[in-house]
Formats: sequence, C-alpha cells, structure tokens
Amino acid sequence: MTMSTRPLPGHPQLHYRANDLYLEGARLSDLAQRFGTPLYVYSQAAMQQALAAYQRGLQGRRSQICYAVKANSSLAILQGFARQGCGFDIVSGGELQRVLAAGGDPAKIIFSGVGKTRAEMHQALAAGIGCFNVESEAELEVLNTVALELGTRAPISIRVNPNVDAKTHPYISTGLKGNKFGIAHERTLDTYRRAAQLPGLKIIGIDCHIGSQITEAAPYLDALDRVLDLVDAIQAAGIAIDHIDLGGGLGIMYDDETPPAADALWQALLTRLDARGHGQRKILIEPGRSLVGNAGVCLTEVLYLKPGEQKNFCIVDAAMNDLPRPMMYEAYHAIVPLHAGSSAQQQTWDIVGPVCESGDWIGRDRTLAVTPGDLLAVLSAGAYCSAMGSTYNTRARPAEVLVDGDQAHLIREREDIADIYRCERLLP
Ligand SMILES: *Cc1c(COP(=O)(O)O)cnc(C)c1O
Repeated sequence: MTMSTRPLPGHPQLHYRANDLYLEGARLSDLAQRFGTPLYVYSQAAMQQALAAYQRGLQGRRSQICYAVKANSSLAILQGFARQGCGFDIVSGGELQRVLAAGGDPAKIIFSGVGKTRAEMHQALAAGIGCFNVESEAELEVLNTVALELGTRAPISIRVNPNVDAKTHPYISTGLKGNKFGIAHERTLDTYRRAAQLPGLKIIGIDCHIGSQITEAAPYLDALDRVLDLVDAIQAAGIAIDHIDLGGGLGIMYDDETPPAADALWQALLTRLDARGHGQRKILIEPGRSLVGNAGVCLTEVLYLKPGEQKNFCIVDAAMNDLPRPMMYEAYHAIVPLHAGSSAQQQTWDIVGPVCESGDWIGRDRTLAVTPGDLLAVLSAGAYCSAMGSTYNTRARPAEVLVDGDQAHLIREREDIADIYRCERLLP
C-alpha cells in the first residue's frame, strides 16, 4: 500500500492517503462507521489556520476579529475560537447565550441584525457586550430607552449601507440600496447626529457588511472608501468614531472560485486605510464562512441507485434538511467518495436525499462511480449547513465530530426523535 497523500485544492487538512479520504489524521470512513451517517466532521486545524490568516493580515493593528456565529454555532467551534482570542458577531439573544456558554468574552461580542427585540437588548446590555451594530433610526431610539431603563449607556456603531455591489448571489448580497440592512449612506450623518443627542448611547464605531461569498477585493475597497468618506464627515461634525467594522463576507472555494486570501485582502485594505490617513483606527471584522466553510464535510451513505431515462438518481441518507444550501441558493458543493477507486462504472448522477420534495437535491449531474453502501463526502459543509438545518420530515439532526490531529471528539450527539417533539403536547 502506498502512503502518498493527495490534497484536495482549497480544502486544507482534507486529503486522500492511499485511496482513503482523511481529515487531518482521521480516516473519514472510520468516523462514519463509529458515529453513523449523515455526519458532520470539522477540522480544528483548518479553522485555526483560517483565523491565523486574518490575524496575520491585521498584525500590528488595533483590531478585533469577531467570528459571525450564524455560520456555524456549535458550542465546541465557538469554544475553539474563544480560546484563540477571537470575539463574536451575534444576531440574536440565542447566539449570545451560546457564546457565553462556550466561554466567549462578552466584551468582544458585537450584536448585528435588523430586528433586535427589547428583551435581547436588555440581555446583551446585562451581559456587557462590546458593541451594538444599530441598523435603523427606530432601533436607535429603542436601544436608548432600554439602556436608560437599566441605568447604563449602550456602546453603538451604526451600520451603513454603502450601496456597493458585492457581485454575489442576490440572497446573500446585503450592501445594495434595495436591501433591508443598514442605514442609507445619505442618512448616515443625520443618524449619527441623532445618536449623539441620546444619553443612553455611546458612539464608538461605524460598520458595514456588504454581502457574502465575495470573491474579489474590489467591492471591499469600494465599501472602505465609502465608509471613510462618512467617517470624515462625521468627525467634521464633531462626533468621534473609534473603530471601523468592515463586516464579513469573504468567499471560499466551493468549485473554481478564486477568492483573495484573508491576509492579502487585509494588506490591500490597510494600505488604503493608511493612504487616507486612518491608519490609527481600530479595525473590527466579522468573518463567518471563510473561517469554517472549508473546515467541514458532511458524510453520507448511498442508499439506492435509480437510473432513469432522463436522469440517474443516487439517493443518499443526507437531505435538504441537513444541508439546505443547494435547495436555498442552488449552491454547488463538491461531492467525493470516501474511498476512491471503486470498481463501479462512472456515470452521471443527481445526488438526492429522501425528503419528499423535488428541491431535495445535494448535487446535480455529478460524475461518480458509486454502489449502494458507498460513503460520500459533501465538501465545504462547515458554514451555513448544519446551522441552517431543520428537522423537516421529522429527520433527526446529524451528529457532529471535531477532528484535532488524530483525535475525534463528538461535539454534538445525533438527535433523538423524541427530542424533536419534546415541546409538543397532545390534546387532553
Ligand atoms: C452573516 C454576517 C456576517 C458573516 O458573513 P460571512 O459571509 O459568513 O463571512 C458578518 N456580519 C454580518 C452582519 C452578517 O449578517
């Protein structure tokens, strides 16, 4: 047996050794056998490397990286980032509770989102979070009231909509005028003036987040320029701003995308920042997908093959409830066998799940050599997969395993069916 390894481009820590797929030192077929399928598996080293690239890019600057929890909110993943000194970008009181349960530092938490409730504001103020990213003028007034009720001042940043095109999928583009997010560029100065009058608020920053799965540096540079124009105007009005938060959104390689590396992107952005005389400023960023997306895979077993006249279907035990991105965004995820070199004939398959919806597909027109009982890995499954999962069709959520070297830690037990209906009640 040869021990030569074959890496998979864009997927750090994932490689074939002989014909078996490994994540770090763990053979994935062993994990599938031990924990069952469908199964999410994450690489600690891949997540640490992704964070380290941002840390390198921001080295020597006053900065705070805040992992966007919604990309993957598993407690052990949050815990790993917290141990590396990372902060967190949350969008709900539930995410706040998760971050605290995972040992995150409240002072490094920022709270984004267009629909924060009073109860969530109260909860976040009581926890002592670092910053509220306020998304509307109405929210500003409510936050002021809640802070005064608690006898405190809420640290705030106003999320501006810089009206730049992130050139990404319409569902994940957030920085254009037609989006529900942030405050229009033209309204920003007035909104800061209003905030400065409210005694329950303390202005500390400005932020934007222009979209997700961005694969070019240009939209970031445009957004930075637009935000710096505003910072200059706000400061000229006598309102001090300490930090600039440029949000998240950096893309990953799902197929043949070539996003800039995090450190290279930040070098370009910091050069622009310096050139415009803002080099001293504290920088916040909110990366989600780019920290976890290519650190995770979803393992699934082939149940049945159903060749047909128009389409050949390969039915697997993972479905749209486990992995909703293909159905939601027609997203592409590479699908590879856990054991390469099958003797089956290569054919073109649609990889579909058991859920009773035609939208329940995971991959279309894939050339694979498969037989029932084979195991497949759906790649790039670390971000917005498990976190967007549901129990539709009363399917239990998969187990999750975190690989660290040759250690495999169960970080989420496979859900029990009774767990799914625990909150339901029969009629008397
Ligand atoms: C979703 C989101 C992020 C993270 O986006 P990614 O594309 O996963 O990096 C950051 N900030 C805000 C406000 C978000 O809504």
